[in-house]
Amino acid sequence: MKYDIMMSCGHIETVQIYGKADDRERKIRYFENYRTCKECYKQKMRERERKQGLLFHACIDPCVQQMDGDVYLLAWYSGDTITHKDEIKSFGYYWDGRRWWKKIKLQEFQEKAVQAASIGAKKTESKKPLQMYYFKRALTAQKEWYDIRDKISAVKKPERPGIVKGHYWNQNIYGRDGQYRIYLDDEETFISDEDAIQIKKYLVEKDEYSKKVEEIKSAHR
Ligand SMILES: [Zn+2]
Repeated sequence: MKYDIMMSCGHIETVQIYGKADDRERKIRYFENYRTCKECYKQKMRERERKQGLLFHACIDPCVQQMDGDVYLLAWYSGDTITHKDEIKSFGYYWDGRRWWKKIKLQEFQEKAVQAASIGAKKTESKKPLQMYYFKRALTAQKEWYDIRDKISAVKKPERPGIVKGHYWNQNIYGRDGQYRIYLDDEETFISDEDAIQIKKYLVEKDEYSKKVEEIKSAHR
């Protein structure tokens, strides 16, 4: 049911209230005594943000980017962001409805912190022990990522047979002596027995290669 309630701030607001009659009465009294209208609430929040000033935060991501082995931080602005909205936006941050955030590389942190200071943002140092712990974990993960990459690159990668080079090939061979076929760019192609030998050799080597890579990866898990 909808009620027009005089909120604690003195403004009247229409509020939807559900439940039994007693419960509704209790809720109405609660609104009258403790709740402000939406507009006053917004202003109160805005006032609080203004008092906080502009804040810059960064939080390390304890995982390592699997693509490039880089360590990332989540950086964000809170507090009085409204005053600095355009600047923050021009720094490439995104608004998610609550804060301005951006994923940055660890090596970019210093630059971003200087940038934040240039618009008067205070750097927050909350949860420092946790951050140190994440930081160490991220560096360990990064070292491991490099180790794995080096070990994998030390394994000789089999070379694709000349006949399939530059084509999409589904890594299969069909038929028997005298009539071997493969699919190149989805088109059936008959190949010589010599090419078939090369292809079969390659498939075996490729299997061995995948197995070695898998072994390296699982040894680190
Ligand atoms: Zn109000």
